[in-house]
Amino acid sequence: MTKIAIDGPAGAGKSTISKKVASLLGFVYIDTGAMYRTVGLKAVRCGVDTNDEKGVIELLPSLDIDIRHEGVEQHIYLDGENVSDQIRTPQISMAASNVSRIPEVRLAMVDMQRKLAQNHDVVMDGRDIASYVLPDAEIKIFLTASVDARAKRRYDELLEKGENVSFEDVKNEMIQRDTNDSTREFAPLTIADGAEVIDTSELTLGESIDKVINYVRENIK
Ligand code: C5P
Repeated sequence: MTKIAIDGPAGAGKSTISKKVASLLGFVYIDTGAMYRTVGLKAVRCGVDTNDEKGVIELLPSLDIDIRHEGVEQHIYLDGENVSDQIRTPQISMAASNVSRIPEVRLAMVDMQRKLAQNHDVVMDGRDIASYVLPDAEIKIFLTASVDARAKRRYDELLEKGENVSFEDVKNEMIQRDTNDSTREFAPLTIADGAEVIDTSELTLGESIDKVINYVRENIK
């Protein structure tokens, strides 16, 4: 099985680009952020503070997450309900970032992620895919961009969805998530050994996709 790992901070374009690569190669796209978001949603729905480590850990035995694929689209289910849209709010972004600091949560998610990669050729995106989840991935890419470029993209996306947000709030939330994700002790966001760093700050989406696809084509065996 071939594994392509795409890591990077929020808003670097990972999911759009990963989906495109997966669809061109006929691979399965796995969005690992959606898994942490779903744990965050579960905590919020159960009234558990996402910073309450013990409370979140107590939810894990009854956590029922299911991942289904429809072409290149990943749908994620919580307790039998498709929550793929409900996990995309700013509140759940922060909840995901909080619960993802808990090692027990990460181990449960990593276990699911590795099982998926055993059975399929995958493009998997996240924060720790090349460094921790799939260290033997054939292709490792670290996709990044300046915080302003990333916040602007996320802000535009939220506006398009009709969310009432300010640019400053989106940018501050992104800085807080970046700090959370890069400073946690267990499997932080980091550039893995051997990863190709691609900065998309000055690139359009189309140019970013071309750059990643060219790198994959040149380096895949
Ligand atoms: O990628 P996305 O923004 O959807 O991820 C939501 C949050 O989940 C991130 O801010 C990060 O805290 C966490 N995450 C993680 N490890 C991954 C993927 C996401 O810790 N592999």
